[in-house]
Amino acid sequence: MGGVAGHRGLWGFVRGGMGTVAEAIAASARAKGVEIRVNAPVAKVLVRGGRARGVVLEVASNLDPKRTFLRLLDPADLDPEFVRAIRNFRIEGTSCKINLALNGLPEFTAYPGGAPSGPGPHHKATMHICPSIEYVERAWDDAKYGRASERPLLELTIPTMYDASLAPPGKHIMGIFLQYAPYTLREGTWDELREPFGDRVISLIEEYAPNIRRIIEHRQVLSPLDLERRFGITGGNIFHGEMSLDQMFMMRPVAGWARYRTPVAGLYLCGSGAHPGGGVMGAPGFNCAREMLKQR
Ligand SMILES: Cc1cc2nc3c(=O)[nH]c(=O)nc-3n(C[C@H](O)[C@H](O)[C@H](O)COP(=O)(O)OP(=O)(O)OC[C@H]3O[C@@H](n4cnc5c(N)ncnc54)[C@H](O)[C@@H]3O)c2cc1C
Repeated sequence: MGGVAGHRGLWGFVRGGMGTVAEAIAASARAKGVEIRVNAPVAKVLVRGGRARGVVLEVASNLDPKRTFLRLLDPADLDPEFVRAIRNFRIEGTSCKINLALNGLPEFTAYPGGAPSGPGPHHKATMHICPSIEYVERAWDDAKYGRASERPLLELTIPTMYDASLAPPGKHIMGIFLQYAPYTLREGTWDELREPFGDRVISLIEEYAPNIRRIIEHRQVLSPLDLERRFGITGGNIFHGEMSLDQMFMMRPVAGWARYRTPVAGLYLCGSGAHPGGGVMGAPGFNCAREMLKQR
């Protein structure tokens, strides 16, 4: 302001450019515990009782549609028709994840010659235990009636075959993705069923790889209820909502609101509950960002 070190009429230059002034102020504020958010456009100033109480940021939610609209928002702020459509959105999962820490590799009777002499090519692949179409049908029959499949479809992977840093030398991690394990059980709860079901799955693998039980050091069973509790996915549906025709394309999550915008100005849906989710693909987020930029 036309003064440097007490001398008027002088103009100073800031080493590093003018941004350094803002950086210095920010560093000082941070040192005093201030949290500064950047790239967070404010959509609205909240006023209550004639006072500014806070700001509403432009928000992109990658929480599932039910959690976003029915838990984080007050339904009173939404059109009842929209709320009804979101309530009807089907989001019950039927998948379960079991993680195993192994001190060796499973030896499959169908493909001998791998472990213990060393890994075979199959250990690097996704291994399915799903012998026939009828097997799938029967597994689904159980789920239809609210039971976990007596003999589920299993998908086994050993990520340590590609990334040894995931476990100590000589040890492995095995991921088991399986179907069907309905979120809503007709009898009992997942808290009661979790471990007995895990035992059943290990027995099933044992039919194909007899050494499996011996090499397990630790086991983690994540039922749909656990996926919900742990990752905040309503119903434990891995894709943030059933991937059925009436919940896809221009109807994801609900008809009329498939373009990432929501009935609340400044709130966008950018996760797997938006088209073309779910899955690890980034497309809903990419499309949503484009939509947000269009609104600027
Ligand atoms: C067991 C399993 C297996 C899968 N297998 C595959 C696969 O093989 N291939 C594939 O493509 N996809 C797979 N998926 C699906 C894939 O993981 C999801 O589609 C993807 O992670 C969704 O990404 P997202 O960013 O939309 O949401 P998420 O990854 O669910 O992220 C949402 C985030 O919001 C957080 N959150 C929830 N509530 C709150 C709150 N109130 N406040 C703040 N944060 C909150 C959650 O903790 C989470 O981190 C699988 C999912 C599971 C569970």
